[in-house]
Amino acid sequence: MEIEIRLAPEEKRMAPNFEKLLFGRVFTPHMFIMEYNCDQGWHSPRIVPFSNIEIHPAAIVLHYAQTIFEGLKAYYGVDGKIRLFRPWENVARLNRSAERLCIPTLNSEFVLKAIKTLVWLDKDWIPKQKGSALYIRPFVFGTEGSLGVKPSHEYLFIIILCPVSAYYEEGFNPIKIYVTERYVRAFPGGTGDVKAGGNYAASLKAQEEAKKAGYTQILWLDGLERKYVEEVGTMNIFFVFEDELITPALTGSILPGITRDSVLKLASILGLKAEERRISIDEVIEGIEKGKLKECFGTGTAAVISPVGKIFYREREYLINQGQTGEIAKRLFDYLTGLQYGEIEDPFKWTLILEESL
Ligand SMILES: *Cc1c(COP(=O)(O)O)cnc(C)c1O
Repeated sequence: MEIEIRLAPEEKRMAPNFEKLLFGRVFTPHMFIMEYNCDQGWHSPRIVPFSNIEIHPAAIVLHYAQTIFEGLKAYYGVDGKIRLFRPWENVARLNRSAERLCIPTLNSEFVLKAIKTLVWLDKDWIPKQKGSALYIRPFVFGTEGSLGVKPSHEYLFIIILCPVSAYYEEGFNPIKIYVTERYVRAFPGGTGDVKAGGNYAASLKAQEEAKKAGYTQILWLDGLERKYVEEVGTMNIFFVFEDELITPALTGSILPGITRDSVLKLASILGLKAEERRISIDEVIEGIEKGKLKECFGTGTAAVISPVGKIFYREREYLINQGQTGEIAKRLFDYLTGLQYGEIEDPFKWTLILEESL
């Protein structure tokens, strides 16, 4: 399929100055859009000037949340090249999410081509300062106007782009997290292991309560026993016990993060043993009290590595690594961003360099 391109007017295509961008509030001049219906399948791919869209008030997505998304970034390298980081994994995950929500899957190569074409067209909107990037948000949702609870017969697939500032403007600050036993994010058989919009709506209440109590993020426990650690906010979580890196195993209610997978694969390079297994909140607290737990951090595309300095659990606050960023978190952050910004060689072939000839 050919992607039709309709350019935005010249005056809208000028990149602004990129100081202090609020995450997800500034959009580039173009977006990609494609439609699905049962007769034609996915059709009419096009890049058009960024604009509002019109949908039926009874669109399935508005009532029953049949919607999925992805999140990845384009990085402006120290060598002036533009890189995507493991975009194949995002596309594969988009299709796994689609499958779970009865959304028709997309041709993976075509989705990647759409991302590359759109990013290349708006490449002047990629901030050049290290740490900043162009956030890429592909999403798919059911648009059929019908109040019956069933999979939509019509869909839109859209990609929008946002220039984003460095996550750590004033250094690498550890976050404070709040363990909730009242709310859960996911449970066996649910949708916690895919990027479905409804997961995030269901997490807002807990997040607001954590904020009110003065904490940055929620630490989620498993939905059945509320005993095992699952994720932190919208990130995967890692613990460093002595020289061992531990992250909860993917038991079905945890989102398989691409940053998580990258950290697991980097462990041996950093001389660490890595293990995926169930880990209870009791084991974490005991590890802190006995001095065995050296570090804790979250992983995700937005922050890359987010060190955790404090945990609030059952009316008590526990300090990890004196509330400071740990050595391992720092080394992982430097290595991953080194790959993303083309500062170090990429032995894993994780980066995709964009070129004019798409
Ligand atoms: C997106 C996301 C992550 C992180 O995934 P990455 O691929 O590393 O960006 C972790 N947990 C949740 C719930 C997520 O939505």
